[in-house]
Amino acid sequence: MTASRTIFAPATARGRAGVAVVRVSGPMAGLSLDMISGGIPAPRTARLAALMDPVTGETIDRGLVLWFPGPASFTGEDVAEFHVHGGPAVVAALLAALGEIEACRMAEPGEFTRRAFLNGKLDLTQAEGLGDLIAAETAAQRRQALGQMDGGFARIAEDWARQLTRTLAHVEAAIDFPDDDLPDDLLGPARMMAERLEREIRERLADGRRGEILRDGLSVALVGPPNSGKSSLMNALAGRDAAIVSAQAGTTRDVIEVHLDLGGYPVILADTAGIRDGADPIEAEGIRRARARAEAADLRLLVLDAGAPDSLEEFSALRGAATLVVWNKVDLNPEVGDGLAISAATGQGLGQLIEALAARAETLLAGDAPIVTRQRHRAALEECADCLARAIAGHDPALVGEDLRLAVRALGRITGRVDVEDLLDVIFRDFCIGK
Ligand code: GDP
Repeated sequence: MTASRTIFAPATARGRAGVAVVRVSGPMAGLSLDMISGGIPAPRTARLAALMDPVTGETIDRGLVLWFPGPASFTGEDVAEFHVHGGPAVVAALLAALGEIEACRMAEPGEFTRRAFLNGKLDLTQAEGLGDLIAAETAAQRRQALGQMDGGFARIAEDWARQLTRTLAHVEAAIDFPDDDLPDDLLGPARMMAERLEREIRERLADGRRGEILRDGLSVALVGPPNSGKSSLMNALAGRDAAIVSAQAGTTRDVIEVHLDLGGYPVILADTAGIRDGADPIEAEGIRRARARAEAADLRLLVLDAGAPDSLEEFSALRGAATLVVWNKVDLNPEVGDGLAISAATGQGLGQLIEALAARAETLLAGDAPIVTRQRHRAALEECADCLARAIAGHDPALVGEDLRLAVRALGRITGRVDVEDLLDVIFRDFCIGK
């Protein structure tokens, strides 16, 4: 069993910093503290200590040590923390010293959180929320991640699972005791319950994918004919201090991304290769990707050359509710039609463009906090709702029971914690029909 091994890893990012934290989890955590810092501090109390390599006896650093005996720790196991000066050589020496201790090894990515999950410290949605919180680049992303990490979604999913399991217990009673004096309408209340739950789940699913979009960032594709100034616009935006999180190459060579923080909402602008027909095969591939990207985007920014007003016609197929028309190069041609007038060269109108994007992001993402933040959740909830729909339409108690069981199982996959059989045991224990 891997869980019996003691793992260690830096908890802080690589590089120079004031402080670096190295975490140890597992049965040897206490011994590692003792061997390196010459003692074990009182639980959850910082102690300043000289840290020594137990093999060479050399002093590594002076730092704070903390002791979190299990199960009241992040992983549920014994956990030790070393807070040292954040230099690469200090951290390397400490890791080397820990590596010398028997049955201690470097942790795999995510292994601390995995152990926390296995020890029931958090469920899958909370683990995902924790990952999202660490990845959050904007305030709205942080709030959403925190809510999920606090168990907002887990409580809802587990409550649904409990209700469904109760319903299932009633249906199972009908299967097990078909000729007993059970009420005739035993399936009736179960059906009502399932209907109510299906409605509730479908309402939660009809959230405009806000949670997923917020988590990934609102994707905005820059499209338009070649030379309309898309790259120049990207550069102009990336060159502005305000709102820019980072400018980086996208997933494909043809797509460059700029991450914006617009009023707390994350927006990812992607510059796609110019869309134009009749190009050579290599360019055609770029165009195909650009089109795919533009079609998958949450919003498109159609960048047109103010000196070529006819091009709007050409791109009319792309227009629609999710497209913002931007006329570029208004420094050369100030007369333009509907849409935003900008100049990537002079910076004119860029402020309004950012405001317009922020307003779109707000419209698309603001509202009650959605519970679904990734496709995995959506797929499980859809499957659950579909199973419920089948159960509601069914008449044979055995088949209805099977569909309800599948529905609970789909919910259980969301938290990774609800085991149908366990729940049934609990419920049957105080279930008195026929017994
Ligand atoms: P893309 O093919 O759509 O990415 O277009 P580019 O950004 O490469 O721009 C094409 C040409 O238009 C370049 O020569 C730019 O310098 C020029 N350009 C871009 N934006 C402006 C602008 O606002 N004003 C003027 N005068 N020229 C611009």
